[in-house]
Amino acid sequence: MMLGSDVSSLSTTAETAAAQGLSIVVPVYNEATGLSLLHQRLNTLAAMLRQRFRLGCEVVYVDDGSTDATLSIARALKADSLDVQVVSLSRNFGKEAALMAGLDHARRGAVMFMDGDGQHPAALVEQLVAHWIEGGYDVVYTAKAHRDNESILRRLSVHGFYALINWGARQKIPEDAGDFRLLSPRAVAALRQLPERNRFFKGLASWIGFRQIRVDYEPEPRAHGVTTFNFMRLLGLSIEGLTSFSVAPLRFASLLGVLLASAAFLFGLSILWEVFTTGKQVPGYPSLVVGLMTIGGVQLIMIGVLGEYIGKILSELKARPIYFVAEHTTKPCEAEVATEAGERTAAE
Ligand code: UDP
Ligand code: MG
Repeated sequence: MMLGSDVSSLSTTAETAAAQGLSIVVPVYNEATGLSLLHQRLNTLAAMLRQRFRLGCEVVYVDDGSTDATLSIARALKADSLDVQVVSLSRNFGKEAALMAGLDHARRGAVMFMDGDGQHPAALVEQLVAHWIEGGYDVVYTAKAHRDNESILRRLSVHGFYALINWGARQKIPEDAGDFRLLSPRAVAALRQLPERNRFFKGLASWIGFRQIRVDYEPEPRAHGVTTFNFMRLLGLSIEGLTSFSVAPLRFASLLGVLLASAAFLFGLSILWEVFTTGKQVPGYPSLVVGLMTIGGVQLIMIGVLGEYIGKILSELKARPIYFVAEHTTKPCEAEVATEAGERTAAE
């Protein structure tokens, strides 16, 4: 019985890459305003990739239960120089689930994830693809070049989050890395084999290993609308990421417990010492209350942490599907259909 997984047969060379092609997964939630423009850019991009690398492309739009016209606009998009798939989820399942749906439906070899709000510059894609095909990298991830325009509080929390999640981890999750990334066919195969339902995509993409490279970029301002990730949602995502990826909070709990117990023990010793040396009883009412409150508070926090993990276990145990696809359409690339027809007539 083999307990690992061998995906070496999927490794790419410059020759096989063209045959395998590239799927671009774009989760869209209420992005009706900017969708046509984005699609235009992707069409131009696909034509360019075909020319430079002989790479066939497809785009998979995952409509994450949008309440505006996103779905009807996506359905009407033309497949000029790339295949177009539109996967419509039955309701809003969240970005991580939408990414998963895109990954499941991608039919080409390599997969690239890109936001639907125009924040991920299409101009960078050529560079990412070059790292894969020419450089032989498996995970090409992008990271914000700097966070100068963000508040100190936010930068500190991000830093703290990664410090905690990477604490004692063998494979560190790179700080600042975003969801805009390209995965080679064997990295895609590896990612598809991970069975967990609670997904922290950035973490998993880093955990699988292979050859990874970082590309810095300057995110564009959102083309329209506002971000759907406010403070509470980001906090939720962080807790989700932390508990589905790391046992650091549990270790932290044990460490804190040991520290508190040691402090209490030393304090006890000092009281005894005082009683023996001076013969005086310590009045000690305030220290008693403070001690009780500290221990009570810490215990409640730690029970909460445990609860998060038990909730994770419950949701893995229920094994519900991560998403439901309500509708699915596919349009083959017109340029490709035309060339194939041309070749067939030429052969006849
Ligand atoms: N998104 C989604 N489902 C959601 C929320 C967002 O598919 O429930 C998509 C959204 O359409 C966009 C991407 O995820 O393409 C990133 O969302 P957003 O721009 O709100 O996040 P930010 O860029 O601030 O991280
Ligand atoms: Mg965005």
